[in-house]
Amino acid sequence: MKCKKCGATAVINMRQHKLALCQDCYLEWVPERVQRTIEKSHMFSPNERVMVAVSGGKDSLSLWDILLRLGYEADGLYIKVGVLDGDYSEISQRKVEQFAAARGAHFDVVDLAAECGLTVPQVARLKRGRSICSTCGLVKRHEMNRVACDGDYAALATGHNLDDEAAVLFQNALNWATGYLARQAPVLPASHPRLARKVKPLIRLYEREMAAYALLRGIDYIYQECPYAKGATTLFYKDLLNQLEERSPGAKQRFYLSFLQARREGRLLPAAARDVDLGECTRCGQPTTAPGLCAFCRLWDTKKKH
Ligand SMILES: [Zn+2]
Ligand SMILES: [Zn+2]
Repeated sequence: MKCKKCGATAVINMRQHKLALCQDCYLEWVPERVQRTIEKSHMFSPNERVMVAVSGGKDSLSLWDILLRLGYEADGLYIKVGVLDGDYSEISQRKVEQFAAARGAHFDVVDLAAECGLTVPQVARLKRGRSICSTCGLVKRHEMNRVACDGDYAALATGHNLDDEAAVLFQNALNWATGYLARQAPVLPASHPRLARKVKPLIRLYEREMAAYALLRGIDYIYQECPYAKGATTLFYKDLLNQLEERSPGAKQRFYLSFLQARREGRLLPAAARDVDLGECTRCGQPTTAPGLCAFCRLWDTKKKH
């Protein structure tokens, strides 16, 4: 198969785009697609500083690589949640360090055990009935927001790709979870002085495309999934969507991008589902929908009661 742009031997064939590309053209095509997404959704401008949440995985490291290649001032943030199985946290942190050192890029580390006294698996165990994955998500969102606000970053970027977003959309649509559907956007504006703008520049790229990008760019990332993510329902929905994609190339993309379009045009949800009243946490000052303490601060209260 030949590259559609230059005629050299293609290394990737994307049936969903009816596009085959050689290595050089592919490594140009990906950042161009990301740049178009950033502009189209007004994520951030060239003179704004961006913080990239990096886990050591292919998507977040590739996103950081792409933003640096595009000339953005992008710093990394690694949150050490303390997953000890198979040294998962240690290995992923090392991948981030090596990536940053090779590019002379700057990154911060939040060590949860050092700051709050417990790792995520430990605090989840104390909160009976709370899964490690949901605790981890809560802790990461809180800490990412805190560091992005304290560091005066214009935006906080995460490496969610199209497969991630389509799987979440599928799950939310199955439950008609209108509150979640209303908030599933490529850009969440900073609707409060203590909220960072959140952006997802990779939403137009398939997981397979991101894996190919990381491989062809020689990005060294942690291959294994987090040991706690095994059997996660998101993985099951991804698998279902891939079966659909197999029969109908582009189905995943149509499902997700038409949702975004309907959302943008206000054809989807009543205004009531979009507006939530935000108060401030009495301990950390971050916005919260609950009165008193935010969900993050309530986590650590459990510790004292037991
Ligand atoms: Zn080419
Ligand atoms: Zn709080």
